Amino acid sequence: MDSKHRPYRMCIGCRKARPKDELLRFVKSDEGQAVFDADCSRGGRGFYLCPGPACFEQAHRNRKTRAAYFRTRDTVREAIVEIQETILKFIEKDLILCKKTGYLGDARDEETPPGESELVLVAAERSPEEKGEMHTAAHSSQTRIFSLPASLGGPAGCCAAVRKGFPLANRLAMNLQKYEMLSSKGPAL
Ligand SMILES: [Zn+2]
Repeated sequence: MDSKHRPYRMCIGCRKARPKDELLRFVKSDEGQAVFDADCSRGGRGFYLCPGPACFEQAHRNRKTRAAYFRTRDTVREAIVEIQETILKFIEKDLILCKKTGYLGDARDEETPPGESELVLVAAERSPEEKGEMHTAAHSSQTRIFSLPASLGGPAGCCAAVRKGFPLANRLAMNLQKYEMLSSKGPAL
């Protein structure tokens, strides 16, 4: 992607600018509540947060941003869980579409080795050796690799490969990245 034309936005937690598609977007509803805008489809003024627990914590500590976003949520964890559930639905939807359109394969299959794939998704329950092999193969072919959220494992989801050309690959990758970052342990919550 051309970085010159990649829009940047500031996170209200850490106050750093990051590419817009790597951030979580929120908009104010008519009632003045902040609503998570998962696919950036809602109009109106929004604000952004990095998908990491540390930035949520910072936004929660700030009186103004707490009033905007955390008013109906007791804890940062509550807010994060809610957002993760929403993101997970998007990931699931895109994976179903990926399968239906024939872009989903198995990364251990000869047909879709990491080099022929846009993304590789490794299920958490795979053995460390298998994960290691997948990571090595993906890195050497510069394929983006993510862990497959546990609830999406399924029988065929052990080491999923999204074939090159899947139109929603980037959105899927961004959501997987956000999900992973939200799952990582930040400072004690
Ligand atoms: Zn941030």
